Amino acid sequence: MSAFPDEISALPPPAFSGMALDRAPQSRHDGGWMGLLADPASRVLAAGSDGLLLDATNRRRVARRSIVAGRIDSSGRSEPILLGLENGAGLFAVDLDALDPAARAGLERGATVVSLRDAGAGLPRSEAGLAAYLTALLNWHRRHRFCANCGAGTTVAEAGYSRRCPRCGATHFPRTDPVVIMLVEHAGRLLLGRRAGWPGNRYSVLAGFVSPGELLEEAVTREVREESGIEAYGPRFVTSQPWPFPSSLMLGFEARSDGGEPRALDGELDDVQWFTFDDVDAASAETRSDLRLPPPISIARFLIDRWLARQRSSG
Ligand SMILES: [Zn+2]
Repeated sequence: MSAFPDEISALPPPAFSGMALDRAPQSRHDGGWMGLLADPASRVLAAGSDGLLLDATNRRRVARRSIVAGRIDSSGRSEPILLGLENGAGLFAVDLDALDPAARAGLERGATVVSLRDAGAGLPRSEAGLAAYLTALLNWHRRHRFCANCGAGTTVAEAGYSRRCPRCGATHFPRTDPVVIMLVEHAGRLLLGRRAGWPGNRYSVLAGFVSPGELLEEAVTREVREESGIEAYGPRFVTSQPWPFPSSLMLGFEARSDGGEPRALDGELDDVQWFTFDDVDAASAETRSDLRLPPPISIARFLIDRWLARQRSSG
């Protein structure tokens, strides 16, 4: 596993990492979190499926007093969940989507909803990591209100770290879906594909969900073969990135290939090609319009920038 800053490129780690919050596992089990919610020092953050609440003026986090937020929802659909402890005080999250309009308007006063992508690009690193964490947790609660085992409505448990089914007794934990994303190289060229629906001329490294009963390394070679017809080998793990859109964990790899003519095979890609260092370097500097790279917050861009740095240093 790579130490950071990255030893090859001196790049900072990918966005949405580095959250400094204590996740407070102890406070979840002993019921102490109810006291935390009533503590005047505790605060609550809010996010919905459109993004998270930031200050309309300075684009920093909006932290309301949790004792207020604990009472705002008359419907009972939005229970504050404990994110963790910050300087000894509780930090909670509520789902804007679940609030009645008046409660939502109250929380949104002086604030604006910013997409997680924009927040990831604009916030300091640990704050972007916190944004990803609370978004991932709220996404999971929003999508798992019913038991996957028996269909009954579930309730929040462990102050938001799990949900419990009152009918069959099952406990459900937050889901994280593993996705492999891989930089494939052959003779100083990169394999990049264009996904249908992407903005014009954007290409990126290939990626795909890990299948049940599959090693990550097997997922890498399978996805490359299925999407491009290219045989990749020797996948090596580089780093990972939380990607709560809505619940992925990106697992970044590098692999090699003996080349060949790539073809967009499985319908997910419009096009797939080998690109030279000069192609990718120019795209990185945004000096060409026929090739655009993924945005800087993505692990895809991290892998590409790391490769560029290594090519430069090896002359
Ligand atoms: Zn159940």
